[in-house]
Amino acid sequence: MECRTALEHSRALKGKEYSSVELTRALLEHSQSCADLNAFITLTSEQALKQASHADRLIAKGEGGPLTGIPLVHKDLFCTKDVRTTCGSRILDNFISPYDATLVERLQQAGMVMLGKANMDEFAMGSSTENSYYGPTRNPWNHERVPGGSSGGSAAVVAARLAPVATGTDTGGSIRQPAALCGLSGIKPSYGRVSRYGMVAFASSLDQGGIMALTSEDCAYVLQAMSGFDEKDSTSINQPVPDYANSLSDSIAGKAVGLPKEFFTDGVDEEVAEAIRESISVLEGLGARMVEIDLPNSAAGIPCYYVLAPAEASSNLARFDGVRYGHRTFEYTDIIEMYEATRSEGFGPEVKRRLLIGAYVLSIGYFEAYYVKAQKLRRLIADDFSRAFEKCDVIVGPTTPTTAFPIGLKTDDPVQMYLNDVFTNSANLAGLPAMSIPAGFDRQGLPIGLHLIGKYLDETTILNVAHQYQLNTDWHQRIPEGYA
Ligand code: GLN
Repeated sequence: MECRTALEHSRALKGKEYSSVELTRALLEHSQSCADLNAFITLTSEQALKQASHADRLIAKGEGGPLTGIPLVHKDLFCTKDVRTTCGSRILDNFISPYDATLVERLQQAGMVMLGKANMDEFAMGSSTENSYYGPTRNPWNHERVPGGSSGGSAAVVAARLAPVATGTDTGGSIRQPAALCGLSGIKPSYGRVSRYGMVAFASSLDQGGIMALTSEDCAYVLQAMSGFDEKDSTSINQPVPDYANSLSDSIAGKAVGLPKEFFTDGVDEEVAEAIRESISVLEGLGARMVEIDLPNSAAGIPCYYVLAPAEASSNLARFDGVRYGHRTFEYTDIIEMYEATRSEGFGPEVKRRLLIGAYVLSIGYFEAYYVKAQKLRRLIADDFSRAFEKCDVIVGPTTPTTAFPIGLKTDDPVQMYLNDVFTNSANLAGLPAMSIPAGFDRQGLPIGLHLIGKYLDETTILNVAHQYQLNTDWHQRIPEGYA
């Protein structure tokens, strides 16, 4: 029963094959026996069982929707009332939010059952989940490998079938990259589609909440429930949310798929490139039309992102000063010493690196040279996409240049770590919806992800293309050994 998708569980719950309480209990036990993955920061067993029995009552009365009684796990940067929200950081180790994030609230209203909070890179800064104060998460496909990051705990949870769905956030690739490295479907919606209220800010102009699941169909249903205008988030888009599930079965014959030559370069591992070429033939077989497109400024994505994201982070993380939230140092003589010691003890090395870079690029002597220049590049990158989308409906390429790398391999080389985002962060810079879906395995049995980028607010097309691809492939059905 553990290995089913959310929609399969939904049918089983309605058919009284098992109850949400039984399912929840089974998954909690499974999670406890998989503690070596270090995928969770907090398990919320008691609360989960209460939510599940409430869901069972609704189902018994014939009430509730497609997600009622379905378990999920939240990345530990979504605020959850009465349950701690650590952001993978010592500085928030003891932080309990007085309210739920809008996304959390909406999924709860949809009847979903929260099993716990997932491990992550500290403040979502990273590509491997090795930057967590709570230790690294392991990849269920190979315990010596990273699950990707920063939403690596969420990805490990779903890949190991500890829950059918987990939420994540994506500032530069943190949903799609771990989805790719763990063999999952993961979607980052358009900027503004999902409320950021109650989602601890890293880089506010790039951050977006989304989901990882076993299928694009599950992604469509959960995205539906979490999307839509929220007056509590001033960047939330006041636009109707289309019925995503409705369009999943549409034919993709005649759809124009853009292939940016910049995404098929020497930097991509040959086995990854081969799997992507095969995926493209699958799409062609379904009647999609391939068009070559140019994204001439894509090489600027990494430097542009790694100026803007730290700049915004240095401003956002200024609030963690030992006064209002979380950790405060024990010994100090004056307030300056208290700030300094609190932040020195509370933040890990990667966060400190970002704060230094951010403060530097915003400083008076360097603001024009770095921050303003990066903003101009961001505009050029977004314009490239607008031009490309005049010729195509969706853009396709590899999600990551390689499959999951060994734990420890890149921890001493931040630039190598940053290069994991080479294909993902431009969608954040342009605010576009993007998704990764399973597209094969390398010779070591590690998953490969196919990346789909859509037009602004057009999640419908990428979900439709992904679903049609999944009806014709079975990569998404593979289960890591030992987790079946
Ligand atoms: N890997 C990127 C970073 O470290 C992206 C992280 C994210 O999307 N949250 O900033």
